[in-house]
Amino acid sequence: MECCPYCKKPQTGLVLQVKGYQYSECDNCDLLYQNPQPDVAALEQFYAGYKAVKSREGCGYLDETTLSRFQTEKKLSISELGLDPALFAGKKLLDVGCANGAFLDLAGRYGADAMGIDVSAELIAEAKSRGLNCSVATIDEVRGSFDIICLWDVLEHICNPGDFLQQVSDKLNPGGILFIQTPRYGRIARLFGAEWRYLLPVEHVILYSVEAIMKILKDFGLVSKEWISFGSGCTTGVVGGVYKNVFDKLAKETKNGDTLVIYAVKER
Ligand SMILES: [Zn+2]
Repeated sequence: MECCPYCKKPQTGLVLQVKGYQYSECDNCDLLYQNPQPDVAALEQFYAGYKAVKSREGCGYLDETTLSRFQTEKKLSISELGLDPALFAGKKLLDVGCANGAFLDLAGRYGADAMGIDVSAELIAEAKSRGLNCSVATIDEVRGSFDIICLWDVLEHICNPGDFLQQVSDKLNPGGILFIQTPRYGRIARLFGAEWRYLLPVEHVILYSVEAIMKILKDFGLVSKEWISFGSGCTTGVVGGVYKNVFDKLAKETKNGDTLVIYAVKER
């Protein structure tokens, strides 16, 4: 048994068994972590075939026909966070985990000077073929500073969030904006237990509550300004039609969604 990857305290909360892996809760941080955390070799092997894994799962952003749905979702989130897309114009933006560039493309159309990084060579090649500015890199290899940093579906993949968020904060200009989208360990997650859709070993190593994210961001001088949530945890095809729509709307309207989008500003 390993300690919490953020606060380093021994595991104290509930333990879930998922597909031969174990997730432990840290009562202190209010997060759920894969225990033990996967080793570097296991992760490298997994990400080398990442595109194939995501394609098998029918991941929307990989398909040209559903790429616009990904962008529509991002536009909606930005609007629901109370932000005007005009804020992107002329800003230096870093999209961490940019995959095949769906958000880079949108940020470019919003007028941002956008660049992306990802660990998947296959996905970066695809983004580059569409003329997007990106490279295979990790955050510690990025030089320069940015006005906006995006972590769309990234934080749940990071084994050492303390080191990672320090790097993010260091690269964000004072007054700069950080966007995060990540699964939310909250009411719906707890009701699903080990069946929660976001418990995906090996790749999802840490799942956070809203409170956990806000508290952790503060440790790095990042002040949370607004958050929204969506998703009832009902996967398309499992719960169909009108029922899924009702559950999803209920989750969103009551702010209980199991996907979290938050934005924070770096203190000046
Ligand atoms: Zn902890």
